[in-house]
Amino acid sequence: MNALLDFTDLPRFDLFTPEQVTPAIAALLADARAVVQQLENASATPTWNDFVTPLEAVTEKLGRAWGVVGHLNAVVDTPELRAVYNENQPKVTEFWTELGSNLKLFDKYKALQASPEYQSLEPARRKIIDNAVRDFRLGGAELPEDKKPRFAEIQEQQAALATRFSENVLDATNAYELIVEDEARLAGLPDDAKQMARAAAEKEGKPGWRFTLHFPSFFPILQYAQDRELRKTVYTANATKASELGANPDWDNTQNIVDILRLRDEEAKLLGYRNFAEVSLVPKMATSPAQVIGFLEDLARRARPFAENDLAELRAFAKAELGLDQLEAWDVTYASEKLREQRYAFSEQEVKQYFPEPQVVGGLFRLIQNMFGVLIKPDTSPRWHDDVSFFRIEKQGQLIGQFYLDLYARNGKRGGAWMDDARGRKNLAGGIQTPIAYLTCNFTEPQVINGVRKPAYFTHDEVITLFHEFGHGLHHMLTAVDELGVSGISGVEWDAVELPSQFMENFCWEWDVLQHMTAHAETGQPLPRALYDKMIAAKNFQSGLQMLRQVEFSLFDMHLHYDYDSRGQQSVADLLADVRHRVAVIIPPAFNRFQHSFSHIFAGGYAAGYYSYKWAEVLSADAYGAFEEAQGDPNRLAETGLAFHREILSVGGSRPALDSFTAFRGREPSIDALLRHNGMVQSGQ
Ligand SMILES: [Zn+2]
Repeated sequence: MNALLDFTDLPRFDLFTPEQVTPAIAALLADARAVVQQLENASATPTWNDFVTPLEAVTEKLGRAWGVVGHLNAVVDTPELRAVYNENQPKVTEFWTELGSNLKLFDKYKALQASPEYQSLEPARRKIIDNAVRDFRLGGAELPEDKKPRFAEIQEQQAALATRFSENVLDATNAYELIVEDEARLAGLPDDAKQMARAAAEKEGKPGWRFTLHFPSFFPILQYAQDRELRKTVYTANATKASELGANPDWDNTQNIVDILRLRDEEAKLLGYRNFAEVSLVPKMATSPAQVIGFLEDLARRARPFAENDLAELRAFAKAELGLDQLEAWDVTYASEKLREQRYAFSEQEVKQYFPEPQVVGGLFRLIQNMFGVLIKPDTSPRWHDDVSFFRIEKQGQLIGQFYLDLYARNGKRGGAWMDDARGRKNLAGGIQTPIAYLTCNFTEPQVINGVRKPAYFTHDEVITLFHEFGHGLHHMLTAVDELGVSGISGVEWDAVELPSQFMENFCWEWDVLQHMTAHAETGQPLPRALYDKMIAAKNFQSGLQMLRQVEFSLFDMHLHYDYDSRGQQSVADLLADVRHRVAVIIPPAFNRFQHSFSHIFAGGYAAGYYSYKWAEVLSADAYGAFEEAQGDPNRLAETGLAFHREILSVGGSRPALDSFTAFRGREPSIDALLRHNGMVQSGQ
């Protein structure tokens, strides 16, 4: 029996071997292609049951099996697994590409959309059909025949340019090295950063300390190095990488940026839109580029006085305490760190002593149980590693979802934190298929001291990360939608998908929640009020400057894809300078080429979408505001939790995110809570 072909219940991690991958994927691809062909050739008007149901069934199996392979490749990578993963990935990608451009299937979806049956379908099913038609259209399916070859060419060129863009960034990052031989120049650097640089030099058989442009290597220099020239050297190298000012002209992204923008513009015009920003927004919650720009400019206006204040304080501090009369770009991070240390006087290490894993995870579960009226219990399942735990969520005695928790970093596990789905909720003939989630983090593993395994201790940032990913998990698992295509996070607009995750982060700052999820390593005491007050005070350190920075990136991205004329007189650098002139309070030096490594928009999925971070934060902050308003009233608090569950978490992508938000809050989103949470409320207002 091939473990990947067992779809009866939980994934069979106990029976899995890498040799099973190639035959399983071949069989599933063959099945899927056979079904697609049958559906293509069916002559009758398509119906939900004869068309969508069988197509979904066969593609879901492929998705689930490949999901298991992808998950294992990410969390327990071995040479054997990586080889079969790389061997099969192109085959799977090819199938999805084929499916997305299959005109016969597109015609069937359109016929179904136009049929009398469509009107009688429940909204979730209509949404799935509408989404499919929309995605085919954006994929060029409706173009006249003579335009299709050019459209396909544009897609290929864009993919190649995006790959080239990120390769240039990576190559420029990898190629840079700075060897420091005089230890005195490293004064101020923490020991772990120095040790890492020393080990990097030794590995290359070099003397001294070796720094690269990888973030954990160079950033401590900007943050801690007292040697101003050293900071300037590293700042300059990082700010010019992959540009015409960088080390190697082969890695210059200048022309790639121009070409990518030109192709996106051409694609948009072929599809009948005025610009690429309009294309990007079709499947999103925001309705027009002008709306997004208005939102960002408003945010900039409100954040500006706070950012100006942040900067004035920093300048005064740098002058008085650090002897820096002129605050340069390479001084900002350094001076900020010194100011933070002086002002808040507590360390991450001190806070960490209060967050042992059992207390944190228990506190998280307790919060969720109270807020959403569910029960979380340990459960059993085959696992991929001994450190993984498995749980079930019940509501009124009924199983509604299950999840794996894989918390610690280890060799062979990809960095970062994420939520992924092993299976989505859907209606089956025999009942409901309940959702299953993978929750993956990379926290420090428990230490064994004198043969005794101590609990893992988390930093406050790690606790926030856990709550964030759990928010995505709740969105996936607490869904009540029975249609796979729009249950859980499926079909949720890109700029709204971070609502539940960012929402959950807020609870990591609540005194009552923290009291129940902290216990000091030695005394067992919960977090003391004095330390909590310092954490709260430090929370919004320089939030004005940070907000303006995000707005600057977002506005630059939006204008590039909206009203920037790639054939006109203005260069990309001019546009960036113009945006900075309008919104930034810290203007980087003229040689700064940040845009040449802005991979989010040139090589990731964020083109005309970078604003999503702030957009979703408005939603999450405002949603959390409802809980703040209910503070102190247990009944109202309980009702608010149930309403959040009912109107936001349970509906998934079955209706527009704006409708869900409005149903929960009783009004449209407001920016006020976001400003308040960032300490941006002007006195007297
Ligand atoms: Zn997230």
